[in-house]
Amino acid sequence: MTVNLLDFDQPKLAAFFVELGEKPFRARQLMRWMHHFGESDFGQMTDIARPLRDKLTFLAEIAPPRIKLEQSSEDGTRKWLIDVGANNGIETVFIPESNRGTLCVSSQVGCALECTFCSTGRQGFNRNLTVAEIIGQLWIANKALGRDPHGDRIISNVVMMGMGEPLANFDNVVTALNLMLDDSAYGLSRRRVTVSTSGLVPAMDRLRDECPVALAVSLHAPSDALRDVLVPINKKYPLKELMAACQRYLEKAPRDFVTFEYVMLNGVNDSAEHANQLLRLVQDLPCKFNLIPFNPFPNSGYETSCADNIRRFRDILMQAGHVVTTRKTRGDDIDAACGQLAGRVQDKTRRRVKHVMELAV
Ligand code: SAH
Ligand code: SF4
Repeated sequence: MTVNLLDFDQPKLAAFFVELGEKPFRARQLMRWMHHFGESDFGQMTDIARPLRDKLTFLAEIAPPRIKLEQSSEDGTRKWLIDVGANNGIETVFIPESNRGTLCVSSQVGCALECTFCSTGRQGFNRNLTVAEIIGQLWIANKALGRDPHGDRIISNVVMMGMGEPLANFDNVVTALNLMLDDSAYGLSRRRVTVSTSGLVPAMDRLRDECPVALAVSLHAPSDALRDVLVPINKKYPLKELMAACQRYLEKAPRDFVTFEYVMLNGVNDSAEHANQLLRLVQDLPCKFNLIPFNPFPNSGYETSCADNIRRFRDILMQAGHVVTTRKTRGDDIDAACGQLAGRVQDKTRRRVKHVMELAV
């Protein structure tokens, strides 16, 4: 069977070369071709001896996922719809800002966690992405965007905030993270790679031990009663445990704070009382807040908070000394915002059917 070399990080690729009777340093050489230059044809790798190139052509391939559609927004946001087979699609978004360029990467086809305000969650879950499909998103975007006039890559940051729950696809995500951090691949600093999780506590501890990168936690509610409804995984890992896991994470985190994401839902979680409750919850934890105006989708049952409520909420947090950012909606014209990365998912859990039936009664 042909192996896809995009599935391997450096240790795995070195082991592959040793199996072929080659020197392990070939891994670094090949990774530079694949990830620095975006080369997928072994024939072009001129500093690799021809017999080895022939052997690789016979045994292996460098196969990024297939781009189905590419869109550009007026504000410079780019979006790729990527075909992951069986009529499923995932999305990758590039968001340019004055001082950085961020790629928002997906980790699963759909998501099993059923957060009620999330269109990915509503679509159900199909499968985990492979390493090649995760790192392939960076591979594709890098190839399209290239480098700036100084020779630096346009993509300076990666956030695992696309479709799926990254920590529910732990091994593949960590292998892909290793590639993002490896100088022979993408060479990003740990501070510039962020994993966003809805709060899978045991996996947060594993990430801290195995690959500590910047952490964002989707909080969205200041009490267990409300969070149980919005982020149902809270029933398994309630706020007390989640906060303790955040504290533990900070012991090894590359940044000295956790970012809390908080989706602003009109009349649901956006009152002054909610903001004050939130302050009490995070009392002892170094953190920043990222308020995300809810992005509506059909039949969501939620509305975006009005600007006044978002401002009031933000001011309460800021007056207590916290850094708060309110996410701007970007790429509106190409549906590239958070929670709109709908892609196309064939639900294997049949949840969509269940949901449609719920809506019908
Ligand atoms: N599964 C991970 C990461 C992907 S979602 C997580 O939940 O953290 C990235 C962020 O977008 C999360 O904070 C998520 O809660 C938020 N989000 C999901 N649906 C949204 C919507 N419709 N509007 C605004 N934010 C949304
Ligand atoms: Fe999954 Fe994150 Fe959406 Fe929740 S918010 S359903 S964890 S993708």
